Amino acid sequence: MEIILLKMGEMVLKGLNRSRFESSLLSRLRAVLAPYGAFGVSSRQSAVYAVPEGECDMDGAFAAAGRVFGFTALCRALQCGKDMEEIQQKALSLPGLNSARSFKVEARRADKRFSFTSPQICEQVGGFLHETLRLPVDVHTPGEVVWVEIRESAAYVHTRPAEGAGGLPPGTAGKAVLLLSGGIDSPVAGWRMARRGLSLLPVHFHSYPYTSPEAKDKVLQLARILGSWCGPLTVRLVSFTAIQEAIRKHCPGDLVTVLTRRSMCRVANEIALRNGAGALVTGDCLGQVASQTMEALAVTAQASALPLLRPLIGMDKEEVARTARRVGTFETSILPYEDCCGLFTPRHPQTKPKLEAVLAAEKLYDYETLEAETLKNIEKNDV
Ligand code: ATP
Ligand code: MG
Repeated sequence: MEIILLKMGEMVLKGLNRSRFESSLLSRLRAVLAPYGAFGVSSRQSAVYAVPEGECDMDGAFAAAGRVFGFTALCRALQCGKDMEEIQQKALSLPGLNSARSFKVEARRADKRFSFTSPQICEQVGGFLHETLRLPVDVHTPGEVVWVEIRESAAYVHTRPAEGAGGLPPGTAGKAVLLLSGGIDSPVAGWRMARRGLSLLPVHFHSYPYTSPEAKDKVLQLARILGSWCGPLTVRLVSFTAIQEAIRKHCPGDLVTVLTRRSMCRVANEIALRNGAGALVTGDCLGQVASQTMEALAVTAQASALPLLRPLIGMDKEEVARTARRVGTFETSILPYEDCCGLFTPRHPQTKPKLEAVLAAEKLYDYETLEAETLKNIEKNDV
């Protein structure tokens, strides 16, 4: 029988919180596996076993399990009795061994009553595979590694594990509002924080009819992809049209972007407070554009009472793009629909905005009333 064997990450260190972490991890795993068949999910020490109970789509289940935050590694393992001959035969049937140029065996014996020691298991299984498959053994740079694990209830054989999603289980670190644009950066920022256990409340500002309905759909699609990692999300779509028009009309040109950002922060803060979220997450990256100089970031942060988390702050564009490809958002992010931030952008934005000047600019119009109005018309979308 084939099972999915997963290795828990750093949460095994979390002391008293461990059981909370573990139950949230297992319930997320159960939820992602459910569409692929019935699985029995259980844990022992730092290992989690997902055992099919009947007909299951193992490929689909394995791919989905690879997106559960909290596991560092996972593999498809063959289960067999704790009997050397049976173990040898199972190892022989491992997919991937036939095409390998060389191999080695690694053994782990949790059940010390098993009559072979780990080195003896390596010798017995390695010798058998070498003779049967005529496959060279290479202990330093093996083409494939055959793992033999003797556990309490059964023996397991598998080849190299795949990398897990890493991080901490969903929701174990609290809740934050994600300012989600249609760009490359903010979905990655959200993914990185979700991976640290934050549950996300995505908020998107649109300027319909200046921005198109497709731009909205694009953001919902990005949230759907994020949800495939962290669970279903509810996106809040906020109309920013009136605020942007007011800013364009009343704000000195070079401060338009900073005022726009600050207004977004204030509205997002209010949404966070109403929904029990403790922080905001943005995709800001130091020096990437005029609104992301240190001075501009500081003036923007000043508008937020809640901490502003910027997980991409020190990442290069290429690193962010690479992560976006891993997350699966890259192709959607580069679709050409415009973001509301692209509207009314000044030709020469202020790269070193002064707080006093910004506060003075905000006094020229009653943005507070407009923001309160905007908060009344939030469109919620479950993805
Ligand atoms: P991104 O790729 O995430 O759009 P960016 O490099 O284009 O980022 P900006 O457009 O300056 O940078 O936006 C900085 C951050 O502000 C974004 O990462 C996002 O968190 C937030 N933001 C920008 N536009 C919006 C929007 N329309 N709705 C919600 N958040 C936004
Ligand atoms: Mg953008």
